[in-house]
Amino acid sequence: MLVRRSASKTAAVGFLIGFALLISGCGSVPPGTSAPPPQTSSSQAGPGASSSPSGDGSPTGAPSSRPPSSAPPSSQPPEQAAVDCKKLKCVALTYDDGPSPETTPQLLKILKKYKARATFFQLGSLASQYPELEKQIHELGSEVANHSWNHETLSRLSSDGAERNLTRATKAIEKGCGCKITLMRPPGGSTDKSLDKTTKRLGLAEIMWDVDTRDWETLNTSSTRRSALNAHRNQVVLMHDIHQPTIDAQDDVISGLQDKGYTLVTVSELLGKQAAPGTRYPKSWGSY
Ligand SMILES: [Zn+2]
Repeated sequence: MLVRRSASKTAAVGFLIGFALLISGCGSVPPGTSAPPPQTSSSQAGPGASSSPSGDGSPTGAPSSRPPSSAPPSSQPPEQAAVDCKKLKCVALTYDDGPSPETTPQLLKILKKYKARATFFQLGSLASQYPELEKQIHELGSEVANHSWNHETLSRLSSDGAERNLTRATKAIEKGCGCKITLMRPPGGSTDKSLDKTTKRLGLAEIMWDVDTRDWETLNTSSTRRSALNAHRNQVVLMHDIHQPTIDAQDDVISGLQDKGYTLVTVSELLGKQAAPGTRYPKSWGSY
């Protein structure tokens, strides 16, 4: 049966990717191998902070000073109402390394239940296997974005290699969602000026995070819940929708943030439609 073959293949792919992520420390900067963490604010632990989530710092302040968008970003469903995060208290939940046919649908169900939106940084290799999940995410009003083809550390590749990798992933993701993507997140948060130039050529803004839940490391529902609920206004929260303990935290995370008055938005909604290609966000990650 196709289903059984698919499940088996999924498990194998999941294992390989999970193993790779375990080694590479997805969501954190691998020691000694990656770009320097942001140094602009002591209140925001960057990716170099190895043990504590960074959501307990002071608010990041206003997002990019973009005018309210008159049209939704291109990766958003056109019927979606514009959100102004200069007026609303927003938080952007982000989920990396999927899609997973086991766990991603569970998360989509929870997002739908709470009418919340989020951003999914996808591996092109998985997006090509599960294009229907790309479409579902997009149709739900959430955002899909590029997280490389197969979680390679892009800053270790040549400029041409990184460009080929990202382009391949973009094509797979866009084919699945039927939309245009404008954001990427480098695996491990590892970037450099060369990758900045590459992403600028490709029309992709680089999205990092404010709050690192380290869910991939703890695989602990309570810890993930606690970290995510530490988010402040207009911050970006990093999680991974391929881990069941993370999924198990989401009902409480989403309802808890909404109870605090936060509107859960996509990253493009948080930044505004003019998120600049080749530029790192949040601003504390800027290299210029
Ligand atoms: Zn990742």
